[in-house]
Amino acid sequence: MSARRLGEAAKFLRMSKQVLIAGAGIGGLAGALACSRAGWKVRVFERAAELSEVGAGIQIGPNVVRVLRGFGLEADLERVAAFPGRLQVRNALSGAELGVLPLGERSVRLYGAPYATIHRADLHRLLLEALEQRSDVRLGLGSWVVNFRETPHTVTLTTTEGLEVEADVLVGADGLWSRVRELMLNDGAPRVPGHLAYRAMVPQARLPERLRSQQVTAWLGPRLHVVQYPVRRGEWLNVVAIVHGQVDGELHSWDHDANAADLRKAMGHTCPPLQDLIAAIPEWRLWALCDRPPMKGAWQQAQGRVALLGDAAHPMRPYLAQGAGMAIEDAHELGRSLALDSLTAGERLQHYAQNRWQRCARVQARSIRNGGIFHADGLVRWGRDATLKLLGERVLDVPWLYAGP
Ligand SMILES: Cc1cc2nc3c(=O)[nH]c(=O)nc-3n(C[C@H](O)[C@H](O)[C@H](O)COP(=O)(O)OP(=O)(O)OC[C@H]3O[C@@H](n4cnc5c(N)ncnc54)[C@H](O)[C@@H]3O)c2cc1C
Repeated sequence: MSARRLGEAAKFLRMSKQVLIAGAGIGGLAGALACSRAGWKVRVFERAAELSEVGAGIQIGPNVVRVLRGFGLEADLERVAAFPGRLQVRNALSGAELGVLPLGERSVRLYGAPYATIHRADLHRLLLEALEQRSDVRLGLGSWVVNFRETPHTVTLTTTEGLEVEADVLVGADGLWSRVRELMLNDGAPRVPGHLAYRAMVPQARLPERLRSQQVTAWLGPRLHVVQYPVRRGEWLNVVAIVHGQVDGELHSWDHDANAADLRKAMGHTCPPLQDLIAAIPEWRLWALCDRPPMKGAWQQAQGRVALLGDAAHPMRPYLAQGAGMAIEDAHELGRSLALDSLTAGERLQHYAQNRWQRCARVQARSIRNGGIFHADGLVRWGRDATLKLLGERVLDVPWLYAGP
């Protein structure tokens, strides 16, 4: 055996192939699944005492559906998601259709998978059920990761109850306010761009027929936009309305009770069909959106034996509908990188970070740009509407995103 092969074998033997994951959101669970499929033992630490996923929908592009299918979740996804046939963009003031992007069959033909829309809780449950089938994954609830320390051969995390656990690598999938990020990068709090998201979900059967819909519709207006799409096999309608503004109180908690009257007021100058939809939904939840500037290098996603995944690494504005998508793509790449047995633990995490950060930075930047275009007024709004009418699907499609990673 050559000296190099002997060295690789020695590195491999030194590793117990154990990964610790902080956070059991969509990113943490997808990460656990990918690492377990790569032959690693996984321990997930979640600060919440029980896993109750927020009641909101998410869109998952074909780039993400492909990854989920690769995890063996195709049939489960078909059972719970909706697969809208088209994305329609409308002017929120006049109601006029500005452009259409066919999804469905076109998405399968061009990108190898459909465009899906799903209740977050359903996606979370699919991932959890897949993990329950795997004997090498342990999930600890009520376990708040507060610290970690590295030695040349290990990383050890500490939880609030004083538990100390050692492994080869640690992954911070602990979301927007990530403690692991704070310890690794110490780069301050996320930004608050001054955008509020009102979210609601209703059974379509409870809506008047004219408001039911099986497509994705984005309504664009000055300083606001609204997106609606079906979830739960099309039986429910998810609506998210974004307006400019601030909330008082705790930003760390995900959602707040919303005052529906505030939202109706903010939508007061929009077209009657949109006002009709907003008025038909009695209960809303409110999120203050936060993000960070696009990543600048792989060092922001992994250092030594510690890596970040999902919102912990690259929180973004939801204007490309890819935050959870990027977390799931991260998970896939993490699994692939950890499977590279000729590399040390640190090298595997570097491989992961090198393969992820530029794409995530591009999605973060594009999400910010989309927000400006969606909420434009004056000449920019006029130019946007004219471009959408003229070029339609050519500007609405995002081939580099949907065909990747
Ligand atoms: C209005 C809105 C619309 C969106 N729409 C879309 C969309 O259409 N498509 C899309 O792909 N994405 C969308 N997103 C983004 C998406 O929701 C997030 O990017 C995604 O949920 C991030 O997942 P995550 O697992 O990285 O983080 P999180 O979901 O925040 O999970 C982090 C987990 O870590 C736990 N945790 C935190 N700190 C600790 C600790 N110290 N120790 C242990 N556990 C800890 C938390 O309790 C939580 O369970 C949207 C977001 C918003 C706000």
